Amino acid sequence: MSDNEDLKFFKQIELYFDEASKYIDCSPDILKQIKQNNAIIHLNFPIKRDDGSVAVVEAWRAQHSYHRSPCKGGIRYASIANEDEVKALAALMSYKCAIVDVPFGGAKGAVKINPKDYSEAELERITRRLTFELYNRKFIGPGIDVPAPDYGSGPREMAWISDTFKSLSNDLDDVGCVTGKPVTQGGIEGRIEATGLGVAIGLREFCTSDELMNKFKISSGLKGKRIAIQGLGNVGFYSALFLSEMGAKVVAVSEFEGVISNAKGLDVKSLYDFRNKHKSFEKYTDAIFTSARDEIFSFDCDILIPAALESQITLENVDVIKAKIIAEAANGPISFQASQKLFKKGIAVIPDIYLNAGGVTVSYFEWVKNLSHIKLGRIENRYNQKNYTNIVSLVAEITKEEISPELIDRFTNKGDERNLVFSGLEETMITSFSQLKTICQEHDYKIDLRTAAFICAIEKISRCYKENGIFP
Ligand code: NAD
Repeated sequence: MSDNEDLKFFKQIELYFDEASKYIDCSPDILKQIKQNNAIIHLNFPIKRDDGSVAVVEAWRAQHSYHRSPCKGGIRYASIANEDEVKALAALMSYKCAIVDVPFGGAKGAVKINPKDYSEAELERITRRLTFELYNRKFIGPGIDVPAPDYGSGPREMAWISDTFKSLSNDLDDVGCVTGKPVTQGGIEGRIEATGLGVAIGLREFCTSDELMNKFKISSGLKGKRIAIQGLGNVGFYSALFLSEMGAKVVAVSEFEGVISNAKGLDVKSLYDFRNKHKSFEKYTDAIFTSARDEIFSFDCDILIPAALESQITLENVDVIKAKIIAEAANGPISFQASQKLFKKGIAVIPDIYLNAGGVTVSYFEWVKNLSHIKLGRIENRYNQKNYTNIVSLVAEITKEEISPELIDRFTNKGDERNLVFSGLEETMITSFSQLKTICQEHDYKIDLRTAAFICAIEKISRCYKENGIFP
């Protein structure tokens, strides 16, 4: 029996929490309040299938923490969804938001279906009915609870949620009821890539920290590091793409059909396009294919990135791992016991609650944009551009030098929405990483990064509870 069968997902998060709590000077009452899941609803609703039959769809929404409003977290569409998983993922959202200073409580939702078994029209009926159920129970709203995409859902589902909410609510801020929407429907540029870009930036920060790399006896820098990724969905693909751009080498990728690899490095974009077209990368040329998909864990690489689902690395397979760094792009991919074993073995784990926070960070930017009813940079962009142009002209006048058009362009370039979003995301990932590193330093590197991340989150949430006056 694996450790995951022994321990439920939510229990594993509690164990991480308890481990970090040992290092925190905080009242047990506050800790108890932070740890609990605050509310959950379990729904069963009927939808008419295209053939006229009726399917009963099971769904959940958990709101882990009300220490800040609204609650925030994705909605997953997966046949293996269950209540324990939803509660665990909601808890991770609370800690994640605190680490990156996104002022939300944590939430998560799930619809227990395999989206591949339903037509687009059926998926639309399910999503609209779900929104109706959430609305009726006051479980959705720009100031209450704001869903986002997750495993098996994307901008299309978010657009359906937004449209249904709008028809029900008559709220001036209705478009802020959900994030991850298409840009034409109140979304924000860069949200689709955000989680993957955040993963790449977080890994870059880790790999360029000489202190941490020395501690784990790994050579500094991302350049040339060999990467293996489990799952080529939204997060896996964009992580792979940005890491390749930063100089790392993606040598293996796994999906349901198996593992595809090339020691010289895979062309991530071409592999992704090929798989989208053929629904499998088995026949992808210039690479080696094996149908044994779990071989990704024992692949000879420097960095392993689980980017599919939780509970992938357990006591059963932890010893086959050859990577020196595991970057948790997915939520909860490593069990509590496996995580402890990896730390003892000197394998670095960059935890989910920091590393995949890029998605919720950009979701926060989208929500702020929706509530302010104005596109990022609309007021100040041209004003700034004129100021920079004046400065460049002044420099040219004083130095009597001709400044090249490329240089002028670099200084006077207007930050479009995507640039502004990516810059805000980079700032967030760098600042938060530095906070985690400081906590590790304060504990003489005797704790792992995950414990540091939980300490960081719990301290910020407990401060919030203390300041609201309920707890002494
Ligand atoms: P996705 O559905 O776009 O992609 C997941 C991919 O993993 C799919 O292509 C699927 O076929 C593949 N997969 C599933 N099981 C696999 C297995 N056993 N072996 C190999 N491949 C497998 O989902 P996503 O949005 O990329 O989410 C992936 C993970 O990242 C989840 O844990 C999710 O909670 C987390 N996450 C997502 C976001 C986001 O913005 N989408 C943000 C934070 C965290």
